[in-house]
Amino acid sequence: MTTESSLRADIVEVGRRLYARAYTASNDGNISVRLDPGRLLMTPKSVCKGFMTPDMMCITDLEGRKLQGDRDPSSEALMHLEVYRQRPDVQAVVHAHPPIATGFAVAGIPLNKAVLAEVLTTLGSIPIAEYATPSTSELPEAVRKYIKAHDGMLLANHGALTVGADLFAAYYKMETIEHFAKISLVARLLGGENLIAREEVDRLQGLRGTYGIKAPAPICADPATEDVTCQVVEAPEGRGLRLVPDLLETPASAAPARQSEPALKPAANADDTEIRLTYRELSGLIEEAIRSLR
Ligand SMILES: [Zn+2]
Repeated sequence: MTTESSLRADIVEVGRRLYARAYTASNDGNISVRLDPGRLLMTPKSVCKGFMTPDMMCITDLEGRKLQGDRDPSSEALMHLEVYRQRPDVQAVVHAHPPIATGFAVAGIPLNKAVLAEVLTTLGSIPIAEYATPSTSELPEAVRKYIKAHDGMLLANHGALTVGADLFAAYYKMETIEHFAKISLVARLLGGENLIAREEVDRLQGLRGTYGIKAPAPICADPATEDVTCQVVEAPEGRGLRLVPDLLETPASAAPARQSEPALKPAANADDTEIRLTYRELSGLIEEAIRSLR
């Protein structure tokens, strides 16, 4: 059973990591976790997340009223409360300003392209919640639109928000978003991302079930939809990158797979624009992503 003291220690550790990775500067960011069905443990306002101690945390009810603590709750408590209200499954919330992801949020560019298998199988897409004045009731309103279908989002001209089944799961999603933003930025500097095809996105989504990933919503079948109950992912129809080979496409004449190679290897004559990953390599990538989310 998770005790209050271990949750206090976990918040301190997550804060330390956020600050060490420069996902927050000065007193930026906030972290919270469900203590029990009626109470939250939350970082206090106006402290640097890199130098917190367990005794600094506040306990509030689900309306944000302080129940315990010498300090006042985070200035973004309203945003955290809205997440817990909309997502009974969420146990922890992390908000930070990781610079590259926040750069995308400032530029108005969502991280919603089909680029990385581990992002498609876990977070799906990372939309941008509309700009809202920090610490006002505007921010929970902006977040409400996307939180039901997403475990991570950018906040326009502000930062990023992630949620999870525990503190570290929420924190690791923040790492994934910043990592994805960094890779996307480099790809754009090098001429642009090659996108994974829609058909392949569907296959990757199928792996969520295989690996027991609890995504809050499926990827939208129509990327042009206004529907906010699914995850919009930009992926080209037809030809595009494939990561999961299809057994049925392996020609009967192909040499049988050697013992050391998995059976699901792309056909020998597969189009040379494909990314070639063995099933084992792909499984490794996805397992690594899942481990990081637990
Ligand atoms: Zn903020």
